[in-house]
Amino acid sequence: MAKYIFVTGGVTSSLGKGIIAASLAKLLQSRGLKVTIQKFDPYINVDPGTLNPYEHGECFVTDDGAETDLDLGHYERFLNTPTSQANNVTTGRIYQTVITKEREGAYLGKTVQVVPHITDEIKRRMLLLGETGQFDIVITEIGGTVGDIESLPFIEAVRQIQWELAEEDCLVVHLTLIPYLKAAKELKTKPTQHSVRMLSQEGVHPDIIVCRTEHPLNTEIKRKIALFCNVKPNAVIESADASTIYEVPIRMLEEGLDVIVLKQLHINGYSAPELSKWRGFLEKLQNPKSKVKIGLIGKYLELQDAYKSILESFIHAGAMNQVKVQIVNVHSEYITGENVAEKLSDLDGLLVAPGFGSRGVEGKITAVKYARENKMPFFGICLGMQMAVIEYARNIIGWKEAHSAEMEANTPYPVIALMEEQKKVKKKGGTMRLGAYPCTLKPGTLAHKIYNTDEISERHRHRYEFNNKYLSDFEDAGMIASGKNPQTGLVEIVELQNHPFFIGVQYHPELKSTVENPQPIFVSFIAAAKSFAEEKERLLPVKETV
Ligand code: GLN
Repeated sequence: MAKYIFVTGGVTSSLGKGIIAASLAKLLQSRGLKVTIQKFDPYINVDPGTLNPYEHGECFVTDDGAETDLDLGHYERFLNTPTSQANNVTTGRIYQTVITKEREGAYLGKTVQVVPHITDEIKRRMLLLGETGQFDIVITEIGGTVGDIESLPFIEAVRQIQWELAEEDCLVVHLTLIPYLKAAKELKTKPTQHSVRMLSQEGVHPDIIVCRTEHPLNTEIKRKIALFCNVKPNAVIESADASTIYEVPIRMLEEGLDVIVLKQLHINGYSAPELSKWRGFLEKLQNPKSKVKIGLIGKYLELQDAYKSILESFIHAGAMNQVKVQIVNVHSEYITGENVAEKLSDLDGLLVAPGFGSRGVEGKITAVKYARENKMPFFGICLGMQMAVIEYARNIIGWKEAHSAEMEANTPYPVIALMEEQKKVKKKGGTMRLGAYPCTLKPGTLAHKIYNTDEISERHRHRYEFNNKYLSDFEDAGMIASGKNPQTGLVEIVELQNHPFFIGVQYHPELKSTVENPQPIFVSFIAAAKSFAEEKERLLPVKETV
């Protein structure tokens, strides 16, 4: 039977519960245990697929086509194992299940209530993955902050599970903030005391307290937190700000978080942590030999989390190449034919980001043109690939009015068109082409060279596709389809033959990049950007020395 760890957060949001959960999971996995992580989110949307990236950051898609919270991306990047629909549950999904059952008559004669019906459904889902027999430990991250009205049923479910299970089968880790007051030159424990008290009032007592802090906690402070929050002093863990999230597992190992967990869960016979690959990655990440500047052309750039997986993929790919990747955000809305050179000439590579709707697309098309003409490494993802297709149609094939039917329904050249199966779709939630599909690679192409295999599987999230009616026109003009879905012929990858590195993919490769398995296109793109930068350097006029 699996054991359960719940991670709650107090004092403020954005403390990095996902990173702490993923780091703990990594450490337990490194000691030979089978671990998975799931996230319970308190909002009413059935999944985050209908949320604007400004609201909730990126929507992470799993192999089985679930649109999920971006923390699942961290879980996969840390653990190097895929998650699924079952790993992300929202209040909306819980209510939807209960209300559907009520309509079917499952509770006939009874009043359906938050306790026990909603809490029972939460509990059922919290225990589900543990009952598959695939895992020794299930870590559940509870979204939101303790004290929020909306997360109360989740906390109540945790209380009941704690009561039902044996003491050694379940524990609660509470993540809090220890603020530093500059004027008083002091770290303050009071907010932590209050948040633990709040959690206790809701019936749950934390076993371990992880404290986010900008300054080291001395033994005296740790003792104080332990005493007032009623945990043992060794169960107060310091989580100081780290230079990269990938350092957090090592910091937690040094603090002994995993050992306390193993002791409290009465798990014996675990092995020493095997983190050599992880440490190897960190070593390379922290000792880059050169630097490249990559332009991220998108429209949600004000919010860091909107392109989370892309940014993390660049970190993995940079480490692989021992190159520091500096991301330069370029707002697509403000790129014009006049200013494009000024905005992009300093870069070593260009990534045109995924997206929806017409805002900023002309800027993206202009950016693609610049990369194509200047032989700058180009990588287009989903909408980015579609923009590369439109740019080629307009400027090389000569179809000036070519467009995507998403932006211009009446274009005479819909080179990007709505997928056939999407035409009957009316509802918005969970109705895109989602999740993993196979793709066959054409031998002798850049894509084939990058992946070094004939068939790949990547994840998707789109409604529009390359219009195969025009494929021969494109191929005759030099843009080829180097990857296609073997069943439907849907174009998954386009590339240019007379360019050193120009690739666009309909899928989202960023969703599969992990520390231990960096995504191959990102790795090759950074290598190409590095060569581009070196070539630029070589061509610079030699400075005269006096
Ligand atoms: N809006 C485009 C489509 O639906 C691209 C989607 C994306 O970039 N994820 O096909």
